[in-house]
Amino acid sequence: MKVKRKTVIAGNWKMNKNKAETVELLKEMEAKISKSDIKVLLCLPYINLPIASETLESGAIELGAENCHWAAKGAFTGEVSRDMLLSYGIKHSIIGHSERRQYFGETDETVNRRSIACLENGITPIICVGENLEQREEGITKDLIKEQLIKGLASFTDEMISNTIIAYEPIWAIGTGKTATSEQAQEVCGFIRSLLADMFSADVADRVSILYGGSMNDANAEELLSMPDIDGGLIGGASLKADSFSTIVNIAKRRL
Ligand code: PEP
Repeated sequence: MKVKRKTVIAGNWKMNKNKAETVELLKEMEAKISKSDIKVLLCLPYINLPIASETLESGAIELGAENCHWAAKGAFTGEVSRDMLLSYGIKHSIIGHSERRQYFGETDETVNRRSIACLENGITPIICVGENLEQREEGITKDLIKEQLIKGLASFTDEMISNTIIAYEPIWAIGTGKTATSEQAQEVCGFIRSLLADMFSADVADRVSILYGGSMNDANAEELLSMPDIDGGLIGGASLKADSFSTIVNIAKRRL
């Protein structure tokens, strides 16, 4: 049973939607998504977070950032600090998305620093891990995930991991329309949980929400979300459509 863990449906808008489009889509989302016990989160480009928080009214949808720097302030051109996020009421941030790792030099070490800064300031990091196609075909998926987690969660305490969300996102499935099968996704999410049990304790591991991400949509969500170690989804493309995203949210609500 998954009752001990929070179900989380998180959207990642990436670099999409200008100000007016953001308002329009959020209003559409809010009309379709009602408040419930699951966490529904939309992670938006920084620049649209202020208008987004002004637009959302019902409390059914929370907002998150797509990254967060480790320093409180300083000479880090183009970065945004946790204090800035907190000043807009933002309490979640994706950390270490594969696009950040691939195009912007993010490493397990920077993931670790960013996540610690988030946790020390009451922001929940959604830490992304996952293999590319070559690594899957080489059969090193689990070794890689283990390395990403050992380095990414270095010096984490039980309390810190309890306040963290992990997202397993196979890179070959992101934005490709090629979803991992529910068995493939479960295998790795289950592996992540057993690793967390080794690194912390079984009790602690049992409380961490582990999400699957990679072309999740309204047609495949039911099966993916029925898996015992998949506690929700991190959703890119389908979070840009109110119909698809709200359908996934409703599927997730039925799991409660
Ligand atoms: C993502 O960006 O984290 C993601 C899973 O994207 P998509 O759903 O489009 O594959």
